[in-house]
Amino acid sequence: NFARSKTLERLPEQFFAKLAKKAQQLKAEGHDVINLGQGNPDLPTPPHIVEALQDAAPDPLNHKYSPFRGQSSLKEAVSEFYKREYDVDLDPETEVAVLPGAKTGLVELSQCLLDPGDRVLLPDPGYPDYLSGTALADASPAFMPLLEKNGFLPDFEALSSEDLEAAKLMFLNYPNNPTAGVATSRFFEETVKLAKEHSICVCHDFAYGAIGFDGEKPPSFLQTAGAKEVGVEMYTMSKSYNMAGWRIAFAVGNKSVISSINLIQDHLYVSLFGAVQQAAETALRGSQDAVLELTATYEYRRDVLMESLQNIGWDVEVPKGSFFAWLKVPEPYTSEEFSNLLLEKAHVVVAPGNGFGEYGEGFVRVGLVAPEEQLEAAAERIAELKLF
Ligand code: PLP
Repeated sequence: NFARSKTLERLPEQFFAKLAKKAQQLKAEGHDVINLGQGNPDLPTPPHIVEALQDAAPDPLNHKYSPFRGQSSLKEAVSEFYKREYDVDLDPETEVAVLPGAKTGLVELSQCLLDPGDRVLLPDPGYPDYLSGTALADASPAFMPLLEKNGFLPDFEALSSEDLEAAKLMFLNYPNNPTAGVATSRFFEETVKLAKEHSICVCHDFAYGAIGFDGEKPPSFLQTAGAKEVGVEMYTMSKSYNMAGWRIAFAVGNKSVISSINLIQDHLYVSLFGAVQQAAETALRGSQDAVLELTATYEYRRDVLMESLQNIGWDVEVPKGSFFAWLKVPEPYTSEEFSNLLLEKAHVVVAPGNGFGEYGEGFVRVGLVAPEEQLEAAAERIAELKLF
């Protein structure tokens, strides 16, 4: 047995890997499990994107290493996508990096910018991988509580001047995982102002950018004046195009940060499979009808789930975006006790809020990643426990 490095020792067991293991165990025991715990989209990639991969896969050029830093035509497609969707100008060669998934990009970004002991501002509750990157870099986290009364946006006024002075990097994510909060343009303006004042690099994770409900289009951070001077945005293909298995995402924005990400990737990946890049290009350039349909599907599921839960007496906050519902746990349970109860007695997997941070305690996260019949069935099984 080889001892793990001190760096790796700092990493906790990955939260979702642990959750997936629990669900699998129950399934292996023969139970009919409804898994709403992970953020794994259940629907397939739109067929025209799969066809683009099939067309590109036989090309021998794609069997070689793809160019370092990704195919130029793909980066141009990203730039055109941002222009079309958000009226944001991006130089394809210096302001776009192609990533093997946003998860990787988020961890890489920490490697790029942080030295041991550097301060990082993180949302709490928040997507656990912001903390993984921080831990690997041996940096020191300072948490920004996301409270319901503030629409799950951090209150910058509440940050200590010490944390603000020491901070090098701040992670934000809207539409938010896990709270389903959505940012306003005004909030992003305040973010840019704060980042400039304190020389903080902002990383806005826009994983659920395409998934806004009730006719609202979630704003991109880069739409804010001055945003490119202070940060980058991560845009993954995983959620809006149901391409989680394909592992492709982009970092866009600040040139110096993009250049650092490119440098680390030159050493780690060379590039992604060319056919995947060509399929992603098709996704970005082609009809966006499938994205609109997907958003409508999640909105419909949201409505079904909300109604079913309200009918059983659960007082729920209606999500505005993302594909999660962030639900208050009934007394007297903790998040973990409640999710274990649902798992063991109802065979419904939800993610305990405390897995996303201290301020996640008292909540569970339910993914809209199953057909509406299953969401209704989950609500019925929960009703039988007579907790409300
Ligand atoms: N960022 C957030 C907020 C997410 O919820 C997820 C996936 O669950 C990711 C990033 C991961 O994106 P990718 O599949 O591109 O690694």
